[in-house]
Amino acid sequence: MAQTSVYETVMVQFSRAADLMGLDPEIRKILSSTTNEIVVNFPVVMDSGCVQMFTGYRVQHNNVLGPYKGGLRFHPAVNIDEVRALAAWMTWKTAIAGIPYGGAKGGIQMRPWDYSPAELERITRRFTFALGSNIGPEYDIPAPDVNTNAQIMAWILDTYLQMMPPLERNRCVHVVTGKPVESGGSVGRDKATGQGLVYVLEAWAKDYDFRLDGATYMIQGFGNVGSWSARLLKPHGAVLVAVEDHSGALVNPNGIDPDALAAYVAMHGRAQGFEGGTPVDHETFLRTQADFFIPAALENQITAETAPLLNVKLMVEGANGPTDVDGDRILQEKGILILPDVLCNAGGVIVSYFEWLQNKRSEFWDLAEVDGRLLKQILSAYRRVRDAVQRYNTDWRTGAYIVALTRLQTVYRERGIFP
Ligand code: NAD
Repeated sequence: MAQTSVYETVMVQFSRAADLMGLDPEIRKILSSTTNEIVVNFPVVMDSGCVQMFTGYRVQHNNVLGPYKGGLRFHPAVNIDEVRALAAWMTWKTAIAGIPYGGAKGGIQMRPWDYSPAELERITRRFTFALGSNIGPEYDIPAPDVNTNAQIMAWILDTYLQMMPPLERNRCVHVVTGKPVESGGSVGRDKATGQGLVYVLEAWAKDYDFRLDGATYMIQGFGNVGSWSARLLKPHGAVLVAVEDHSGALVNPNGIDPDALAAYVAMHGRAQGFEGGTPVDHETFLRTQADFFIPAALENQITAETAPLLNVKLMVEGANGPTDVDGDRILQEKGILILPDVLCNAGGVIVSYFEWLQNKRSEFWDLAEVDGRLLKQILSAYRRVRDAVQRYNTDWRTGAYIVALTRLQTVYRERGIFP
């Protein structure tokens, strides 16, 4: 079966909101395309001494609200269509979050697990070198995404700084976010996406009388977003009954302990083999009866084939684009409410913005300050989306897009198009 184009999914979602709100047709033309698409092919010396060629991407979707911002992904499925889509989602997300950034995304098409740590370092540094001045602290700021982490960001930082004249180096530390705390990162960035998701879910649960205490849920993907969401839901009394990662799925109606599973995954790199649940196949996992589902792995997981299998009341999208257009329609027909990715996973980029601000001001905020500001920022985003949902009598994804497009439209109208 042909894989759905993720960029087409974005454009369908965009068109639905643009039609409903009556987006200015001229601005619609601008937002329907990306601004810059950088593709670099670069050589890296492997441990064996042989040279291997890699293809890396950086798509800059829009920067009318501020510097381009978005993660870098190392995965075999990375291609120009996927990166375009992920970059567009960043434009909407930063607009919804109310932070002064545009949208971008990038990555390398590769199987990161096939390389040694030394090779990964050389691949990362060579990619950074190949991108050159296409990234920069006031221009385009990468961050972690699937299979990239704080260590990868530290290598990007170091390589970028080496390419700067010595006098410039110390004022360029904000060229990437999601760095290790010792290298200029922010406390709270690691858990920020999961934390933001939990803040949104808490706010929604309060507004719509949904009891998190005792609610059952399932998670797909137990990396940064999935594991932090689960660990932060534990104090709310929510019960994790099913989990799936790249190695397989586990169920336990009595609850899987997120902290124990996170410790296991940190040690073994996969959920498979964890004794706190029974292994099941993909279809059984999807059919699990639960109150809500957090997809936190990759895009195109909830489709015409898989959406009919779900037995949940609510989807809280942690991943970007987990639901394709057919999947979305089927979930709506089944009465399953979707809290969309562009709102639920905005915590990561919000705390990236805080890291960037701290670097610019040479400050260090403590965790209480970071969490407090994140809560305030994401709650106001949540309220803007909730109000648009009510005002336009629409679904939450379309409501979220309307919030983003309204802000972008306002700025384009104020600034005009030059020359
Ligand atoms: P990660 O690399 O830390 O974790 C990815 C997880 O997905 C792993 O548990 C992996 O085993 C699992 N996975 C991969 N393929 C799978 C498959 N076929 N079936 C089931 N599970 C599979 O990545 P992450 O940073 O947690 O990102 C996850 C999603 O969240 C992505 O869509 C990413 O774009 C999005 N996101 C991440 C951040 C962030 O701050 N890291 C912010 C916003 C959105």
